[in-house]
Amino acid sequence: MDTTNTAARAQARGWRATYLPYTSVVWWALHLGAVYGAIALGFSWAGVAWAAAMYGVRMFIVTGFNHRYFSHRTYKTSRWFQFVMAVLAQTTAQKGVLWWAGHHRRHHKHSDTELDVHSPLHGGFWWSHLGWIVGRDFETTDAVVVKDFARYPELRAIERFWLLTPVVVGVAAFLIGGWFGLVWAFAVPQVLSWHGTFTINSLSHVWGSRRYESGDASRNNPVLALITLGEGWHNNHHHYQASARQGFYWWEIDITYYGLRALALVGLIWDVRGVPDHVRAGTRKAALARAPAPSGAPPALTAEA
Ligand SMILES: [Zn+2]
Ligand SMILES: [Zn+2]
Repeated sequence: MDTTNTAARAQARGWRATYLPYTSVVWWALHLGAVYGAIALGFSWAGVAWAAAMYGVRMFIVTGFNHRYFSHRTYKTSRWFQFVMAVLAQTTAQKGVLWWAGHHRRHHKHSDTELDVHSPLHGGFWWSHLGWIVGRDFETTDAVVVKDFARYPELRAIERFWLLTPVVVGVAAFLIGGWFGLVWAFAVPQVLSWHGTFTINSLSHVWGSRRYESGDASRNNPVLALITLGEGWHNNHHHYQASARQGFYWWEIDITYYGLRALALVGLIWDVRGVPDHVRAGTRKAALARAPAPSGAPPALTAEA
């Protein structure tokens, strides 16, 4: 697939083709529905509490499963729970889990170059925030980049029907909670969790500080880390992708990591990878640890108990 200068090509086509293709009707309709529904139903603390709770659940799924498992394999799990995680990943309406992981791996491989699928440095804020995912340039799943997971037939099977999963969630919210459930437990947190997630692509390579010379423009940002349950420590993450933990110090709040520790505590996941001291210190050894492992050998990692 030719991805050279994708942002430039998209911008040459014009904003309408990039941001308003017919395939984005559901996406934009849900935005309108969330805003209209919230206004029509009016403010309520119960509504806000539902929206906040469901936002948190969605964000944990995106960061803990889509990102830290399917994209980076930072811990291990059983085949049945892997399947459960994949189904949950697709309830967040960010396309199929293999699609997600494949494009994310490509982002790391080409960070902030013209081959990066969503670099704000090459495409600007709106392209990196939503143009690349709402537009039609990157609709296909790259099975080669995610061949480690694409070999599971059950994951390939649900990948095709990814849109069905959030629809089931929306219908369930309506059946259980009526219009209140549909708006406050589904539409509002869905839209907010999209934009919360997308800040990592649009802002985390622009806004914040840099602890490590990671070879790209990634930043650490405590505000984005709160919004995204830990993903805002993005410079840490680009420095060392193998860790399930992205807040490298105790004061770098990383709620997803705490959730993963809880899943490990009850035995659903294990071998949760931490940050080796030399990596945290940013010495030359860290750079060596990030280099590709020689033919088939496991990468040099230290598991954290
Ligand atoms: Zn990543
Ligand atoms: Zn990044």
